[in-house]
Amino acid sequence: MTGVPRYIEEVDGLVAGSLSYLKEACSENGKVNPGRLDDYQQTLFDLAVCTAELRAASCLQEYAARHGDLEHAIADLFAAEAIANTRSRLVRSPGDFGLDPGSLNLSAGALQFVSAQLAAPNQAALGEMLSSADGFVGARGLDEEKSMMAASFRQFADEVVAPRAEAIHRDDLLIPDDILDGLRELGCFGLSVPQRFGGLLPDDHEDSLGMIVVTEELSRASLGGAGSLITRPEIMARALLEGGTAAQQAHWLPRLAKGDPLCGIAITEPDYGSDVASMRMRATASGEGWLLSGSKTWSTFAGKSGVLLTLARTDPDLGLGHRGLTLFMVEKPSFDGEEFEVSQPGGGKLSGKAIPTIGYRGMHSFQLFFDDFLVPASHVIGEGQGIGRGFYFTMRGFTGGRIQTAARACGVMQAAYEQAARYATERRVFGKPIADYQLNRVKLARMAAYLAASRQFTYSVGHLMDRGEGQMDASLVKLFACKAAEWITREAMQIYGGMGYAEETAASRYWLDARVLSIFEGTEETLALKVVGRSLVENAI
Ligand SMILES: Cc1cc2nc3c(=O)[nH]c(=O)nc-3n(C[C@H](O)[C@H](O)[C@H](O)COP(=O)(O)OP(=O)(O)OC[C@H]3O[C@@H](n4cnc5c(N)ncnc54)[C@H](O)[C@@H]3O)c2cc1C
Repeated sequence: MTGVPRYIEEVDGLVAGSLSYLKEACSENGKVNPGRLDDYQQTLFDLAVCTAELRAASCLQEYAARHGDLEHAIADLFAAEAIANTRSRLVRSPGDFGLDPGSLNLSAGALQFVSAQLAAPNQAALGEMLSSADGFVGARGLDEEKSMMAASFRQFADEVVAPRAEAIHRDDLLIPDDILDGLRELGCFGLSVPQRFGGLLPDDHEDSLGMIVVTEELSRASLGGAGSLITRPEIMARALLEGGTAAQQAHWLPRLAKGDPLCGIAITEPDYGSDVASMRMRATASGEGWLLSGSKTWSTFAGKSGVLLTLARTDPDLGLGHRGLTLFMVEKPSFDGEEFEVSQPGGGKLSGKAIPTIGYRGMHSFQLFFDDFLVPASHVIGEGQGIGRGFYFTMRGFTGGRIQTAARACGVMQAAYEQAARYATERRVFGKPIADYQLNRVKLARMAAYLAASRQFTYSVGHLMDRGEGQMDASLVKLFACKAAEWITREAMQIYGGMGYAEETAASRYWLDARVLSIFEGTEETLALKVVGRSLVENAI
């Protein structure tokens, strides 16, 4: 290995050394004790973020090798950022990482590379090139089929979603039916449903990339108004494919693919969000099925949905933890308002109330109250075989949801970046466009680098998942891309100056929308510590 990949590997070696240190410090009888890792949370979090950045840098290098000068320049800038960021995290307190301060010196080649790349004139030159590129941050590297897919969804997003995006956000509207109907026609809800069930996913192999590029295009127009519509069917379809009986798959998947009914996910509870295994909602066996009682919260689109994927505890023994949880397909009528109530003939009730939010508007996220709400036994995912296995089916769904959320982040970043880059060439201050100032050129170059890195990392993890791998990587890329989206939308707003804070421009919407990405589908802390960090330590040599 030579050149930039070699420099990335050099710092990666420091991270690997630190992971080995943690493994040794937290192992008992040759096995990592997760409880002990809690004493090293800050270290573990930093190592997860370092790993995410270095992995993104490697993906971008591999991609740049197949492309031209612009892609190369962006990839090298990002590699230098990742190397410098990693080193600066480790150098702050080497003892926390089990590293000797002397071991943190990089080779002369790596140091030279980083300082040449991060030199302001170098970054500004790239920024100058990008500022006239109309939001282009390098070829996406898609094959013809995926390029066509992206183009047709982009056209729909530009023509149908974008003109409504601001009104949906400012007036907190529900997604209008013409968006839903148009997406139904395009087959959007069937992106994660195999063709044999009426979806767009090939029967003989996985194909995450279609779902990813469509999500990017819709999120570029509006995160809440279109880009997140695929998340729910993605999670539900994955859970059904993982645990549903043949009859359940045949019944539900074609309906999901048609977007009729629309669906929601009801996992989070008021007292248990990150700690999914501790969920408390009760499901009690009754003659005809199960009676669900308790509260759920943050169930997005629960009002409009006709079916909710709901996790409940079928075994009252709390000591069983996640093994006491079961997944239900809870059917309900669709409602357009911000409150609803369903009463069953036997007395069961389900009510919901939307939670006001600062962004991510269009679907409304609901608090739900179940009161002896009867769900037939046929609606338990996996029926008898599925009792106590709901947690595993949920996790399968969440992996899909996480890569999908990375794609959502890419779409929001793209929108913010391209509008800021355009504005920077139009807005004049002190007699010239703001894009002509070094500071803004550097800003645009760095934004482009993080955007391109997020995109290529997402595509790369998508390919990995298609080979049946990438469970941890989906969390890694979600962690990275959602943090990047938060920062890029912040910088875009800054480029807009006062107008960025006005509702008149979309910059504030992007920023508010991006903020939620690191909270749902696994908070960045939970992913970094419990999924990524733990897996990295366990696999350390
Ligand atoms: C707009 C929106 C839409 C959503 N949509 C849905 C949906 O459709 N369906 C659904 O089921 N849920 C949904 N959620 C819920 C979301 O998944 C949860 O908010 C998320 O899992 C976090 O749970 P929590 O809010 O209970 O936070 P908590 O679990 O209370 O966490 C609070 C803070 O503590 C941190 N933390 C947690 N554990 C640890 C630890 N061990 N060590 C250190 N720090 C820790 C967290 O990272 C976070 O910063 C949505 C949330 C939002 C905001």
